[in-house]
Amino acid sequence: MKCLIIGSGMAGLTAGAYLARAGHNVTVYEQFPTPGGVTATVRKDGFGWDIGPLLLDGFLPGDPGRQILEELGVSERVTALHEDRGLVMKEFSLRKPASYQGPRWRLQRLIELFPEEKQGLTAYYRFYDQVMRLFTCARRLEYATGLSALYWKLRLLLAFLPLRDKKDWNGQQVMDHYFKSAAIKTFFLGIVADFVTAPSEFPGLGVPTIHLETAFDKRIPRQPGLRGAEVGYSYIQNGCQSLVDAVMGALTASGGQVLTGREVKKILIEEGKAVGVELADGTRESADVILASGAAREVFHDLVGKEHLPEDWNAIIEQNRLMESVLMVQLGIDFDPAPYMPASLCYYYHTTDLEAAVKRLRSGDYHEGKDGFLIYVPSHHSPSLAPEGKWAVTIYTVAPDTLARGSWQTDGERLADLLVAEAEAYVPGLRQHTLTRLVLTPEDFRKRTHMRHHSFGGMPPVMSNRPLKHKTPIENLWFIGSQSENGGGVVHVMTGARKTVRQILGEGRF
Ligand SMILES: Cc1cc2nc3c(=O)[nH]c(=O)nc-3n(C[C@H](O)[C@H](O)[C@H](O)COP(=O)(O)OP(=O)(O)OC[C@H]3O[C@@H](n4cnc5c(N)ncnc54)[C@H](O)[C@@H]3O)c2cc1C
Repeated sequence: MKCLIIGSGMAGLTAGAYLARAGHNVTVYEQFPTPGGVTATVRKDGFGWDIGPLLLDGFLPGDPGRQILEELGVSERVTALHEDRGLVMKEFSLRKPASYQGPRWRLQRLIELFPEEKQGLTAYYRFYDQVMRLFTCARRLEYATGLSALYWKLRLLLAFLPLRDKKDWNGQQVMDHYFKSAAIKTFFLGIVADFVTAPSEFPGLGVPTIHLETAFDKRIPRQPGLRGAEVGYSYIQNGCQSLVDAVMGALTASGGQVLTGREVKKILIEEGKAVGVELADGTRESADVILASGAAREVFHDLVGKEHLPEDWNAIIEQNRLMESVLMVQLGIDFDPAPYMPASLCYYYHTTDLEAAVKRLRSGDYHEGKDGFLIYVPSHHSPSLAPEGKWAVTIYTVAPDTLARGSWQTDGERLADLLVAEAEAYVPGLRQHTLTRLVLTPEDFRKRTHMRHHSFGGMPPVMSNRPLKHKTPIENLWFIGSQSENGGGVVHVMTGARKTVRQILGEGRF
């Protein structure tokens, strides 16, 4: 079978590797000069930084991403280092104790800091455990067959019973139910602002899943990915590019090819079937099957054409909300920021009005780093990313794809200066000790991903969004990647690509 894949991000590469290993003729077209999409490690003056995913779930032993690497025969090429994230609020922060104090040390610390919230905190952690049980059953069910599937379905129902009164609640309702303090609400929910999703739009039962206890202390026992909802996070040693290189290696070793600098301009449709693609240089290539990643609007409205699609499919694309983009400043510095940071990757939340912050962001009103940001030091775990005695630092924050005032092209460097100045409140001396700097604006991300509106994590977890299925209304055309039904995140686009190939080939021939 001749398979053409649009996009060499982790979705396209994973699908390509499975298809090539199954003996099919695979070509991946990538419009950017280098492969990987946003899963890329960029280099300058001896430093290296990741530009997309930094701390990933799904790649520790037993996790779904690790299983995919094993199935593709490249697991030994990707070292995942299990680590913690840090979180600093304006009002307080919880530093991990030097000696392990059990799985609920954060609850105890929060009660010490907010004694008036003791009852709410205790009840919230009960809710957390119930949600973890529910999601664990859901995960087990996803991979179970026969009698075992029946068993997990029953367990899922039982796990759902204590939560049924909250099933339609949004994130804000859940937080208001348990807490009075705006700081605690933001502590548990703040990451939704990173997804450019307002608390009132986010599913309430999802709140514990975006603030896992295991994410903040790797000593808290986790269950490998398929067995439990409490997963662990890891850095990819030497940068996420090694993930790209490994999966691309599996693809090319089986005879597949990745052609960079080749933009697909049209998906050719004949009698309701996808039959090939047309490239920007006018070349046409026929295909038995096409898998497209990238932005939904661009794939279906530019490459395919609305006229070939049913109205409801077009309506979903029009109505679904997207995320915004990021402003990212990569620094090479000559001192170790470790003494100033609770973890090598740390979130700093400033605003407690997430609802308003998301609204401002969507209207193009950039917060200049004042609402919060993230600082990450990749060379702590990957010395190859900085010359000896130097450190690579990434500072980034969510930013509007398009500025309401000014433009990223003219204001990018100035806004980068402001972001670094905000970061200096925590890590002093960043500007003075900068040896090199690389700024990535939403405009740069747009170019890299071929999106007219850069949505950094794909489809946001907004309750009203309707996911687009991998199987499209057009025969032989499949949609994969961060704006498809699997949603964003490296492990999700990889498992989604695997699932799509299974659907295409049928389980027996997978
Ligand atoms: C700043 C940032 C931080 C992130 N943090 C995390 C994290 O911590 N953990 C996590 O799991 N995930 C994270 N993500 C999300 C995750 O990286 C993405 O969801 C995932 O990598 C997307 O993979 P993809 O293959 O769908 O898309 P992409 O990586 O965007 O790849 C799509 C590719 O398709 C190409 N393309 C599109 N259209 C065409 C065309 N017409 N012709 C040819 N080529 C085309 C693009 O050029 C691009 O290379 C982050 C992303 C960003 C940007």
